[in-house]
This record gives sequence, structure tokens and C-alpha cells, in this order.
Amino acid sequence: MMHSDGGVATFLSYDGGRERGGQVRRTKIVATLGPASTSDEVVLGLVEAGVDVFRISFAHGDIASGVERLRNVRSLAPAVALMVDIPGPKIRAGSFGQEPVALKLGDQIEVVEGSNESSTNSRIVVEREGVLHLLRVGDRIHIGDGGLSLEVVATGGHTTTQVISGGSVMGKPGLSLPSSLVPDTLPTQEDRERLHALAHEDFQILAVSFVRTAFDMVSTRSVLARPDVMMMAKIETLEGINNLDQILQASDSIMVARGDLGVRMPIEDVPHLQKRIVRDGIRYAVPVVVATQMLESMTHAQVPTRAEVTDVANAVLDGASAVMLSGETAIGENPIAVVRAMDRIVRKAEESFNYERWGASLGVQEVTARANPAFRITAAITGAAWRAAMEEGAAVIVACTRSGATARAISRFRPPMPILAITTSPTTALQLRSSWGVDDVVISEETEMDSLVPVALAHLLARGAVKTGDVIVMMAGSAGSAASTTDTVRLVSVP
Ligand code: PEP
Repeated sequence: MMHSDGGVATFLSYDGGRERGGQVRRTKIVATLGPASTSDEVVLGLVEAGVDVFRISFAHGDIASGVERLRNVRSLAPAVALMVDIPGPKIRAGSFGQEPVALKLGDQIEVVEGSNESSTNSRIVVEREGVLHLLRVGDRIHIGDGGLSLEVVATGGHTTTQVISGGSVMGKPGLSLPSSLVPDTLPTQEDRERLHALAHEDFQILAVSFVRTAFDMVSTRSVLARPDVMMMAKIETLEGINNLDQILQASDSIMVARGDLGVRMPIEDVPHLQKRIVRDGIRYAVPVVVATQMLESMTHAQVPTRAEVTDVANAVLDGASAVMLSGETAIGENPIAVVRAMDRIVRKAEESFNYERWGASLGVQEVTARANPAFRITAAITGAAWRAAMEEGAAVIVACTRSGATARAISRFRPPMPILAITTSPTTALQLRSSWGVDDVVISEETEMDSLVPVALAHLLARGAVKTGDVIVMMAGSAGSAASTTDTVRLVSVP
């Protein structure tokens, strides 16, 4: 939606960062920052390599240094969206240090509660009080993204475990305890401390971990109390899968958090759950990020494995709005090379994406999936805009949008032509960096369709995105339309 009293709008900023050799990448890239990517040089290199969204995890390190990093990245890379990730009930191990520590099959390891203590290959520190006495012999503890597992063999004075799946570990990996031991309300006390510290910080997306119900999202949203922040639900539990429909109605975006999902669900279910979560998210017109282990081997290696390349390409073909890098850019040896590799794989996969079939497969029911009447009108208009753009072979679809909803709604059709979002809100523009295929331009003042047509044309002509005779499809709110409703679609022939 965008309308008001007329006036002449001028451009304030424009996202042309993902254009390479005239081709714009449609699927966005999220990169997690960490010790390997703290320097200004690396942050700027990551931007140059094509990162659209930086994720800063508040699960590691102290809150003050997280805030400092966020401020630093904001000033270094003002054109990249910032996603803050809060840990939820995730329990971490005390640090194993920066060198790999081997946990060998059959080894006995004591687990103890504590904080700010190091873990070793004979004693693992669980950074949470009051959980170990709940463990029973036979319970399993998974370390990190699940490759390493321990089984409890003795409880009582000491809790002793045995390694049943070995490997090496470094840093402060997450520990997955049986879910009955994990508190079931969000936000947790740790989350609240982080939300409090972040109350006035400049970030655009909040990723909420271990979301199980829509209520988790509603209560986290109300504690943050920042209507300008987009709320992303990380889907990584069985309850999250079972309540996906309601969670989608309470969220602005979602993440297929495959690391924890693969620990809590049978690992062979993950590819199928990924397809379902992506499809359902797009049905609700919310961006869906596919995350974790996408190019894992590149944490150390120079080139990805064939399986990883295929995984990234398949995520694109599944319809992901964005693909995410975690340890690869946070603790990897060459974060910039990883983003470059991902960029290349995504671009290649996009060449064989079946745009027409994707758009046509969104049924009427899916178009109006959200109950909210304002959104139903926007959904219907974007459906009409997509059909018109396909029939006319339009050069560009332009979505005039205040909150970003119109751009997200047209993005779900995955049209082959570029989508340009015109907005007066720099925050909306940054949030759209997580939406598939959307470029953004910020203009100085809100105006209605008649005045927006010359603004859009001037911008597109200046970019060389259209030429005389091309058709552009434009959507906006009319002067009398209800707030947050895009009720008008217009086809404009470029003079
Ligand atoms: C995941 O579990 O896949 C995930 C993205 O969460 P985190 O990296 O915060 O553990």
C-alpha cells in the first residue's frame, strides 16, 4: 500500500548491489557473522561478494559485545539488513576453545553445570542450572548439529555419559537435551535480557529460536515492542512443525533451521520438511530462509562438496526466498570465498527455475490463505498483477509499498521479471532484502498512483531496466483505499 496527497517524490537510495554482469540474483543470501568475520575488511568483502542480510547470533558471547558488533556492522554496511538471532531455550556447552577437541566413540565423559568454564574431552560444562538432575540413564545429549551424541550412563552425585557418536568439536556448541527438560515458554529469561538490551538498536529482523506455538511469537513480539522489526520464526521442533499454520499467521518470516530440526526429528525427514515449510511459508507470502550446513565443508575446504552444491541448488528449486550460511562465515577459514561460491550456485540454479509453473501452481485458496481482509485484497491484486505481467511479458513489476506486504505478496508468485519495491521507509527497504526477487528504492514522500508512475519510469529508465515500448505493471493503493491495502493495478507502456 502507498498512497496519500500527491507531491513529487525523489529517490533517496537504491539497491543495485546484487547485479553481476547485468543479471540480478533473485534468491537472497544470509551470512552469519562470528569470530572469522569481525574485521571491517571481511564485513565489506562479504557485502561485495553479495550478502543481503547479516545474522548476528546473540547465543554466543556476552550481550554487550553483540550490541557492539551490531552497531559496527550497521555503520560499515548500511545497505545490508541486520538479523538478530535470540537463543531461546538453547543450552550451550562451556567453550572447547578454538582448536578441535576429539570426542572418541566409547569415551566416558562427565557432564557438570556451570558458567564461564571450559569444556574438555573428559568434562563437558552445561551452561544451564537445574537441568542435569532431571536426566535419566539412557537419555541422549546431542552436541552441535547432531553429529556427536552422548548417552547418559550414570546419574546421582555425578552425571556420566558415554560417547555413542564421536567426532571433533570446538567453540561453544549447542547441547540438545530431551525436550521434556527444556522450559516451554518463550521468550526465556535469557531472551528477555537480550530483547531489553536491543530495545533501541538498529536492526530489522528478529529470529526467534525454538518456536513451538503462535503464542511464542506473539509474546516475544510484545516483549520486544518494536513494530518496525520483522519477526522470524525458526522452525526447528516437532511442535513448530505441527503448529506451522498458526505460527505462520503470527510471523513475518520463517527459517527452516535444519540443524536443530535434524536433531529433534528423524534426519531423513529434513528434506521433505524443508519442502513443506518453504511451500507453506510462500503460501502465506512470508520470506522463507533455508539454513544450516549448506556449504559446511567450506568452513575449512576451498571448494564445496558435490552434495552441498546440489543442496543449495535444490533449496533454490524448492522456492526458498533466501539461503543462509552459518559456521561457514562465522568461524570458517574463508568467509568471502563461501559467499562467492553460494552466489554462483544460486545464479546457476535460477537459470533452470520454472517460474511459470511456480506462479500458476499457487491456487486461489493459497492466494487468500491469510484471514486478514486487508491482506486478501492485496493478495488478489498481486495475483491479477502476476497474470497481467505474464500475459503482457512485462519488463518489470513495480510494487508501491509502505510495510513491504505488497512486494512480499507479488514475490510469492516468483515472476521471471524483476520486482521493484518503491517505499518511503528505509526499514521496509532493508527488510525486503530477505524477500525473493525484490529490489528496492526509497523515495522521499508518499504519493498516489498517478504521481508514482513518472517516478517509477524515471528510475527504471535511469537504471536502463526498461526501454520505449516495454510494459510495466504497477501496484499501489488508491487515495480512498483502506490502510495497508493495495487495491489498484495498472499497466503502463513506457513512452
Ligand atoms: C539451526 O538450528 O539450524 C539454526 C539455524 O540455529 P542456530 O544456528 O542458531 O543454532
